[in-house]
Amino acid sequence: MNIVVLSGGVGGSRFIRGLLAATTPDDQVTVVANTADDIWLFGLRVCPDLDTVMYTLGAGIDTERGWGRTDETWNAKAELGAYDVPEAWFGLGDRDLATHLVRTEMLRSGAGLAAATERLCARWAPGTDLERIRLLPMTEDEVETWISTTVDDAPAEIHFQEFWIRHHAGVPVHAVTQRGIESSSPAPGVLQAIADADVIVLPPSNPIVSVGPILDVPGIRDALRSSDAPVVGVSPVIGGGAVRGMADQLLAGLGIENSAAAVGLRHGVLDGWLLDTADAHHVAQLEAGGVTARAVPLWMSDDATTRQLAVDTLALAAELCRG
Ligand code: GDP
Ligand code: CA
Repeated sequence: MNIVVLSGGVGGSRFIRGLLAATTPDDQVTVVANTADDIWLFGLRVCPDLDTVMYTLGAGIDTERGWGRTDETWNAKAELGAYDVPEAWFGLGDRDLATHLVRTEMLRSGAGLAAATERLCARWAPGTDLERIRLLPMTEDEVETWISTTVDDAPAEIHFQEFWIRHHAGVPVHAVTQRGIESSSPAPGVLQAIADADVIVLPPSNPIVSVGPILDVPGIRDALRSSDAPVVGVSPVIGGGAVRGMADQLLAGLGIENSAAAVGLRHGVLDGWLLDTADAHHVAQLEAGGVTARAVPLWMSDDATTRQLAVDTLALAAELCRG
């Protein structure tokens, strides 16, 4: 079975671990990761979602924090703060810094982000879950999520990382734009992976800043719609609120109903959608919108529940194939 997963960072990589536990090494898993979180900092290209997937599956992640490297130290960050540089709010760890150095050096010498990602993954893959997946960026073009907000009573345009890390999503959201997306194109391998897929999965990733940008890269949404493979997804919203992260603030700011049904229908590509048992009353609304919906437990609390969620996702896909 060829499985393609369109993933953000933390929610997506947790789900992928469950998916690997629910499948066999004969199944090919291609992960297309969001790159609209990416940012230039101190001359370095930082790719938070690609790195979260790589470190999580490659056993390099700090499991407590859920992002960044295990056994991390923060000397460079402290030194940057001592120089009073404006971007010292970003959590650049010393070990993590090496990843950004290798990637940026490759990009500067003319390699694409897909090749840089492959090179970085080659270090982590042997003997880990990462060995079983192919990790692709959604695009090699620079796409960045920016938030229109108000800071200190003045209108401001800030990078998504500044919104999330510096302001802890505590400033209002007036608009969200993915700069550069209209002129971007899918990274090498992405459209082929979708065309070859038997199942396409939207894991429980942020609908506005993770899954949304991947679908909005010109060509990707059309590729999903014209694929014969069922497109199935897992709601990141449970009981009228996102489970972790800042999706609640984004949905509220954009005036989108914070429900598993509204978020699922909005993607416009789904054949099937899993919602939590607490949201079973939304099944009818989804089915009226042409999306087959099933209510199952969606909390990825531990390895067993996460694996079961992947089993349920593949079961829904199988049901849609037969139908
Ligand atoms: P990020 O890039 O690190 O923000 O990670 P993602 O975009 O991949 O995932 C973030 C989303 O995961 C959030 O919007 C959460 O609602 C969702 N999420 C996190 N944990 C869980 C969980 O246990 N179950 C479900 N259904 N969603 C979750
Ligand atoms: Ca992200």
